[in-house]
Amino acid sequence: MTATHTDATHTAAHTDTARLLPPATVARLLPLVCATSGETTATESPLDGSYLAEVPQSSIADVDAAFDRARAAQPAWAERGASARGRRLLEFHDLLLSEQAALADLIVVETGKSRRDAIEEVFHVAMTARYLGVHAAKVLASQRRPGVIPGLTRIDVHHVPKGVVGVISPWNYPLTMAFSDGLAALAAGNTVVAKPDAQTMLSALAGLELLRRAGVPDDVWQVVAGPGDVVGTALVDRADHITFTGSTATGRNVAARAGGRLIGASMELGGKNPMLVLEDADLDAAVDGAIRGCFSNAGQLCVSFERLYVARPVFDAFAERFVAATVALELRPGLDWSGEVGTLTTSAQLEKVSAHVEDARAHGARVLAGGRPRPDLAPWSYEPTILTDVPESAELYRGETFGPVVALYPFDTEDEAIAAANDSAYGLNASVWSRDHRRARAVAARLRVGSVNVNEAIAASFGSLHAPMGGFGDSGLGRRQGPEGLLRFTDAQTVATQRLMGLGTPSGLSRESFAEVMTGALRVMRWLRI
Ligand code: NAD
Repeated sequence: MTATHTDATHTAAHTDTARLLPPATVARLLPLVCATSGETTATESPLDGSYLAEVPQSSIADVDAAFDRARAAQPAWAERGASARGRRLLEFHDLLLSEQAALADLIVVETGKSRRDAIEEVFHVAMTARYLGVHAAKVLASQRRPGVIPGLTRIDVHHVPKGVVGVISPWNYPLTMAFSDGLAALAAGNTVVAKPDAQTMLSALAGLELLRRAGVPDDVWQVVAGPGDVVGTALVDRADHITFTGSTATGRNVAARAGGRLIGASMELGGKNPMLVLEDADLDAAVDGAIRGCFSNAGQLCVSFERLYVARPVFDAFAERFVAATVALELRPGLDWSGEVGTLTTSAQLEKVSAHVEDARAHGARVLAGGRPRPDLAPWSYEPTILTDVPESAELYRGETFGPVVALYPFDTEDEAIAAANDSAYGLNASVWSRDHRRARAVAARLRVGSVNVNEAIAASFGSLHAPMGGFGDSGLGRRQGPEGLLRFTDAQTVATQRLMGLGTPSGLSRESFAEVMTGALRVMRWLRI
């Protein structure tokens, strides 16, 4: 069974980037980068390969100056208190929603993703701002805890901001990845120096502009630009905590360097995420979930599915419906709402995706849908692709493709499916489909991943901002979102206040008698379950 997209459904989108991205917007945003070096780097739009912007590059002196300003601004930002900071974030939420069209334009032009994918980013950042604006004060509030001698020892636990947090983010979700972690750092009373990816600087700067309009002082969030191994490294060497989103290979270097400085590091890294379709699944719903889970943002999504395990009795029926739905997708890079799948963002992505598919073919894999670059649509466009019969020797069997490519595998038993899903160095996200929710949750509990969506692809976990998100194994360290994602930007401080009597041996009591009294007291506390 082989199917490919027809030229009739995938009309080329010839986009006039200069018209769609007014020079005035670019001229307004670029000066927000902390850069005095006079050097620039050019970016181009994946929609048509046209020249986009000349992004100013920060020198190491610029990074130093940004950290000096951020450090000077941090105490006053922290002293405002969590509720006052939260009000700025709620204002940011409102601005994101009112400026969503302009933000989506920038995201589409810089990444080539479909408009519907771009708008989801805006919503995700708004939801993050709302969660933090409403709930951070509660999570960060100091707590009373029992002391060594209840009643005599008062314990207060405070959550002290780390100081200046460095945020390093990739190009695939330029608004979400540039802001989600950093907003939590701000909410916790830190200031931020951020280094977004060069390809998507304008989207990150547009977010920064709104943050400032929302009343966040200039020095509280600053943006620097430049090569990751130079400017990114400079951030790791200066920050009090680093939050990194990107590839596992780079993440390892960043974490090692952060470890050398004994600073905390949150690592949101790669994935090779499995989706499991059990034999009692609603197949139409599972197909719909697979389409969103595999091809959102043309598969350039850390939590997207590249391995699909389907129970053998329903394998053919599922594959047939999944292929039909995939070839019907509107692959149409462009700024309007019509395209369902956009283009890959960089030529390097296209090379990697093509190489993975060709290597799988050479090792005997069959292409059920897609499998071709589409330069007629956009320079780096690639068709949503379904493979089967992928042998273990193929590169994409284990390696992250980070593109619109998924491999289908049949399974006979639940144990076999779970073992196959867990047979990966990564452990970011998974999805389980079954009409029996209890059974699906039992399967979920046996998966070695940071999040599992039952009867949904990605959005149920990723969009639930009260819950943590992150990876097992090579997919990362630490968690974003929820209280976990907020408290990582603080150090816990315990203040113990001793009242009435000290903890030394009371005068007049021998050490031996004191030991006997202590033994009795410990037994009573154990009995009282204190
Ligand atoms: P990348 O690691 O090449 O780059 C990510 C960021 O790190 C960029 O800003 C880059 O400039 C910077 N960087 C590069 N070298 C650096 C260094 N030596 N020191 C400090 N910073 C450096 O990743 P990418 O290719 O841009 O992004 C794709 C990868 O990101 C995929 O593997 C994807 O799975 C992963 N990702 C993970 C998540 C998640 O939440 N787990 C989210 C999005 C993307």
